[in-house]
Amino acid sequence: MQSETWLRMGSFIGVLAIMMIWEAFIPNRTSAVATRKRWLSNFFLVFCGAVIGRLLVPAGLAVVAVFAAKQHVGLLHLVPLPEWLLIALAVILLDCVIYWQHRLFHKLPLLWRIHKVHHADPHLDASTGLRFHPIEIGLSLLIKALAILLLGVPAAAILLFEIILNASAIFNHSNIKLPDWLEWPLRKLIVTQAMHRIHHSKVVQETNSNYGFCLSIWDRLFGSYSPNAKAGDDGLVLGLDEYHSEASNTGIATVLLIPFRKTPDNKQTKTV
Ligand SMILES: [Zn+2]
Repeated sequence: MQSETWLRMGSFIGVLAIMMIWEAFIPNRTSAVATRKRWLSNFFLVFCGAVIGRLLVPAGLAVVAVFAAKQHVGLLHLVPLPEWLLIALAVILLDCVIYWQHRLFHKLPLLWRIHKVHHADPHLDASTGLRFHPIEIGLSLLIKALAILLLGVPAAAILLFEIILNASAIFNHSNIKLPDWLEWPLRKLIVTQAMHRIHHSKVVQETNSNYGFCLSIWDRLFGSYSPNAKAGDDGLVLGLDEYHSEASNTGIATVLLIPFRKTPDNKQTKTV
């Protein structure tokens, strides 16, 4: 295996293991649905997403970056920059792209059908951070590939960004609660669990806020930041109203078919 693959896999398994041990020993909430059943659905989606990724971009997004570099395309190449600054800027800009991609998946009804597979999880833990429908994984890959070409993202930044994005998703979905002295200063920089839990609230206005994955600045900058849930962190109800029964939100076939089954929620227009 290439060293990049080891780095990606190592950080993925490492962060996942740390957060799963943390939530096993000091959980924030108790799940009404058996963890075993949720994990079967969520990790099945991880497997499907990995297969889709392999099919769409067999050699990974770094190949797109190498192509962009060879062709000298991309906004980041307009001004000569030191390598470290180029990588840092590219990672920050890609995080901004993911923020807008996330808003788009809430705004457009067709994309919301796909993204609600993620929101239908009735509980939040590290596995929810990986629970995305394979179509969303595929579309996200295409959006990232386009962003890499337009921005001229260097290959080193792709590796760093993929590691950070995966680690952030696992971290901010995990079922833990940071102490107040850490929560508020940390939230000034990155998306914490309490901040992202608001995005998984059943209250629509709260679902349509806090879209960030890694840096918390995008929600503040683009006016989508909710500092607190109406019912408070302990009182907010997770999931989607239309998917409150276990039969509708858990199960391998069920989660795969959510985008294709009509529910009242499909007609709901989400405001950004
Ligand atoms: Zn969302």
